[in-house]
Amino acid sequence: MDVSASGFLAAALSAAPLAVSQRGGPLCHELARGVLELSPRGAHAATPAFVVSAGVHGNETAPVEILAAIVDDVLAGRLPLGVRLLAVLGHPDALQSGERYLDYDMNRLFCGRHASQADAREAARAAELEAVVGEFFDTARGPRLHYDLHTAIRGSVYERFAIVPYLGGERPARQRLATLAGAGIEAVLLHSAPAATFSYHTSHHHAAESYTLELGKARAFGQNDLARFAAIDAQLRRLVAGEDARECEIPPCFAAKYDLIKQSEAFRLHLAADVENFTRLAAGSVIAEDGETRYVAADGDERILFPNPGVKPGLRAGIVIGPVSA
Ligand SMILES: [Zn+2]
Repeated sequence: MDVSASGFLAAALSAAPLAVSQRGGPLCHELARGVLELSPRGAHAATPAFVVSAGVHGNETAPVEILAAIVDDVLAGRLPLGVRLLAVLGHPDALQSGERYLDYDMNRLFCGRHASQADAREAARAAELEAVVGEFFDTARGPRLHYDLHTAIRGSVYERFAIVPYLGGERPARQRLATLAGAGIEAVLLHSAPAATFSYHTSHHHAAESYTLELGKARAFGQNDLARFAAIDAQLRRLVAGEDARECEIPPCFAAKYDLIKQSEAFRLHLAADVENFTRLAAGSVIAEDGETRYVAADGDERILFPNPGVKPGLRAGIVIGPVSA
């Protein structure tokens, strides 16, 4: 594997303890493999608590490289630390093999869902991550933030977009959306139901301001064009340093209208195999058929997200979304 060996990343991949000089720099605790808590000296309960996770899917390497470089810069004193930072490399074994997951998609196993897939290797890791973020946020009395960083195989009309976990019907504050735009986010999906994702877990159980961020194309280690990730990298570094976040004009917002559920093997998705996320669906066009059931696009403003006709029957084969005001 071609890895520009970062201390934090190399240690996580090899399951070796991270060698850190504790003299003078931030306080540093390795809570689990690939999980590092960094605190400025003099941090107190009201110091902002920031979880940055990457590599929950093992084939999504660019965010891992970005996070590892930030951690290494903090440890080397090249980047000031103004928050309590929990850096999480989600799935080191899958990162090692370059696979999205080994047995089961880990980002469907949070909120305790891991108990229902106890044989999957991801189950133990999801439980471990729930425990460490719980411990990390338990003592936080100031702002709590969680950015869960991903990339996607499929192209997207909006290259970089955020998913806001379900907030019980509430809308996120406009300033939060402006901060996402400042990180290079071009569109926002407001989730309309609970999910077993890492970001919903920290939002729901720890009252964190949490996002799943889809930041572009998934590529192997060493093949990422990190210039395409400059805006999120710069925003993460501002937040880690405790500086004010950059804010930009609020991006277009969307919400799920309904899920395309694959009820049987007769399910047919009438979209190109390489259809991009956020592709607009022509009014009246048949999106999918499943035996007697037909899904027809309504008003010309609907778009498709995460189409995947290859899932097992009973699972979601795509989401039909529509625009909402921020
Ligand atoms: Zn992902």
